[in-house]
Amino acid sequence: MAWSFNTEPEFQLELDWIDQFVRAEVEPLDLVLGAPHDIRAPGFEQLVRPLQAQVKARGLWACHLGPELGGKGFGQLKLALINELIGRSRFGPIVFGAQAPDSGNADVLAAYGTPEQKKRYLEPLLANEVVSCFALTEPQGGADPTMVDTTAVLDGDEWVLNGEKWFASNASFASFFLIMAKTDPDERPHRRSSMFIVPAETPGIEIIKDYGVSGQIPTHAHMRWSNVRIPRENLLGARGEGFIVAQERLGGGRMHHAMRTIALAQSAFEKMCERAVSRMTKGEHLARKQMVQAQVADSWAQLRQFRLLVLETAWLADNGHSWKDLRRNVAAVKFLMPQVLHDVASRALQIHGSLGLTDEMPFTSMLITSYHMGLADGPTEVHKVTVAREVLKELQPAEGMFPDYMRDGKIADAKAKFGSVLTRAI
Ligand SMILES: Cc1cc2nc3c(=O)[nH]c(=O)nc-3n(C[C@H](O)[C@H](O)[C@H](O)COP(=O)(O)OP(=O)(O)OC[C@H]3O[C@@H](n4cnc5c(N)ncnc54)[C@H](O)[C@@H]3O)c2cc1C
Repeated sequence: MAWSFNTEPEFQLELDWIDQFVRAEVEPLDLVLGAPHDIRAPGFEQLVRPLQAQVKARGLWACHLGPELGGKGFGQLKLALINELIGRSRFGPIVFGAQAPDSGNADVLAAYGTPEQKKRYLEPLLANEVVSCFALTEPQGGADPTMVDTTAVLDGDEWVLNGEKWFASNASFASFFLIMAKTDPDERPHRRSSMFIVPAETPGIEIIKDYGVSGQIPTHAHMRWSNVRIPRENLLGARGEGFIVAQERLGGGRMHHAMRTIALAQSAFEKMCERAVSRMTKGEHLARKQMVQAQVADSWAQLRQFRLLVLETAWLADNGHSWKDLRRNVAAVKFLMPQVLHDVASRALQIHGSLGLTDEMPFTSMLITSYHMGLADGPTEVHKVTVAREVLKELQPAEGMFPDYMRDGKIADAKAKFGSVLTRAI
């Protein structure tokens, strides 16, 4: 099994282009435009579309997709190297055709959609002519998706949906929804729900309120679905397989968030270092203070460790392991991601002093984003449980009262193994 840390020179040229393009052309959009998914907002056509055209011309559009869907089929490792550059900017993902939740929704449509569903929903989504929303979480509980209470009942040739959804991001901008609803209440919990595609103009869909996060534009919707009627064929995947369908988007989606989070943490780290070598106190730069050095060193090491786990997991995915096989890695990446961003951003804030706390700097926003990362797609605690379960599931309990790796026992084993040689040598 060959592995290396080399990047092909031709691909490095692409990475260099992406890096300078994101810094020079895309990052400035963050300062003048609102929500990236608001593709009808003033300025989007004039400012974002030309950048998307450059990305397409360069052959870097929707890199997460295989060639059959218009992507490059780069695989996860190259995708990680790309994402850790485009994630610097809020607009990076949409400029490169890789924004969540559309990227995950496209994965689901590609895997489970019928030819008609792909034509009607997937194609315009991949071209970013429309954006979409994924509505799973409900007001009474998100961390446990078996609590889904929204119902879908067959009435002749139509499904009728009723219920409420919570924190459905970008619902206001979406042309269609992927929604999970309970179709088989008498089945065991993971077989009760199914996934549906619902066009946004369907009567009965109401946004009760869009919630904002820490002063950002409100984009997370509390929704009510009242007698929403959709054709029978809008079921996505098989009846009762909502969990299996949802899983399709979550493994890759969590990894892609993590790849982009490296970019954010790296950006905080660069700023921390520049400030440390620039700011004077007590006759010397901050960089000369050992406690500042410790913060730089901790951040560098934490970021490198996290990046290596992300890259290793991406490499394994490229080498024949499904996201399901990689459950332990993905869950570890998922719970480390908020921690790394939180720690690096808060050290960067601290080293910038009062300036670090102001809106001139991105650090408070990064800290909020770290909480976003620790909740969306399942809270940290749940992912830690997954890692521990996966690690422990194949272990057998020790037979005796004491572990067989106690020193006395090990010495006896070693003597038995090497006894004759030792006797001769002595
Ligand atoms: C920015 C953002 C965007 C989101 N976008 C979407 C979206 O587009 N579509 C969508 O469907 N959902 C979305 N969500 C919802 C997200 O999936 C839920 O927030 C998440 O699953 C947690 O659900 P909850 O918020 O209801 O928390 P709860 O279920 O109320 O859990 C609260 C807390 O309880 C603790 N906890 C929960 N379960 C356990 C456990 N098993 N063991 C130990 N502790 C536990 C954790 O500390 C957890 O944070 C988004 C969330 C955020 C923050």
